[in-house]
Amino acid sequence: MDVSTLSAKVLDGARLSEQEGLFLHENAGLDTLAFLADEVRRRKHPDPVVTYIIDRNLNPTNICVTDCTFCAFYAKPKDEVKGYVLDREEIYKRVQETVDVGGVQILMQSGHHPQLGVEWFSELFQDLMERWPDLHLHAMSPPEIHHLSKVSKCSTEEVLRRLQAAGMNSMPGGGAEILTESVRKQIAARKADTDTWLRIMEEAHGIGMRTTATMMFGHIETVADRIEHLERLRQVQDRTGGFTAFIDWTFQPGDNPLGDQLHAEGWKKATHAEYFRTTALARIYLDNFDNIQASFVTQGASAAQLALRMGCNDFGSAMLEENVVSAAGCFELVEIKNIERNIREAGFIPRQRNQAYDIIDPRGAAPQPGELESCGAAATGKHQLV
Ligand code: SF4
Repeated sequence: MDVSTLSAKVLDGARLSEQEGLFLHENAGLDTLAFLADEVRRRKHPDPVVTYIIDRNLNPTNICVTDCTFCAFYAKPKDEVKGYVLDREEIYKRVQETVDVGGVQILMQSGHHPQLGVEWFSELFQDLMERWPDLHLHAMSPPEIHHLSKVSKCSTEEVLRRLQAAGMNSMPGGGAEILTESVRKQIAARKADTDTWLRIMEEAHGIGMRTTATMMFGHIETVADRIEHLERLRQVQDRTGGFTAFIDWTFQPGDNPLGDQLHAEGWKKATHAEYFRTTALARIYLDNFDNIQASFVTQGASAAQLALRMGCNDFGSAMLEENVVSAAGCFELVEIKNIERNIREAGFIPRQRNQAYDIIDPRGAAPQPGELESCGAAATGKHQLV
């Protein structure tokens, strides 16, 4: 096995084995990984277009009984200071603000509340659909579905069917972290295990619900764990074709027990270079995924721009957060323009998309006359294999 042979294999469109993926990660230079990932991206997306979506992250409750060691978001059920459950009026207000700035989707995820079952979420989704029938609900995650099945004492497939009937359109791939049990047992011991996470994804795909897949890396896992994670996703995608995209990001150590523990052990946060290597490898390895998303939220805009040359074809979401609520109008003017500027500076044409990755941009899917010239010259150029 050598880098040249594996590179030729990738360029021929052949699939890498786990051993080959690991070898490439360990032995190829970042320039080679970037070149290969960019070529795979170009094969799937010949036009130099990078997409993004306008949506809002809405978390109805942060109360959670699962105690993941990396989580800075949740509050224990008796924590009356930090814990909350949003009332309906507050949720409606936030959705309306999203719609007012052109948002097409609500990304909704919650803590694992011990009392809120499938009935509570079904009613919420029905209420939202009655008010905003065109809104796309990208909601829950496999561990939340698993939790609701326990609270409401029914199967995970029944939970999915009931939520789908209530208006849930698609499901984010949250709660995957690293899909190997040796890692999950240490960082998220009470969460749905690897097989359960994957099974719930297959159930969702089986009832016609598209989902994304994620990976949070750069904590206690090995590179081999990351590749096993990719392999498990690739196998599901072979069977169902239900994943729309893959999104990876690095572990953020602030204000959580895992971060404290790792800092005490002399751990160092994953560098941008490690993020690039892993993301490029994901693009190469996940040959049956159409879309790979850059994580500008965790890496920053400049690194996310570079990730567009490491196989990514999507810039994620121009996401409304709670702290920009009062400036919703400014958000539209500033954040969306910033995203588009970042995409153009990286040599691509920006386009708005929906959750299915269909382009819904009034400018149309293809580059307009003159648009290419206004972007970096690299848009149509080819890298050299070094
Ligand atoms: S299940 Fe989600 S909200 Fe709860 S502790 Fe884990 S990551 Fe945090």
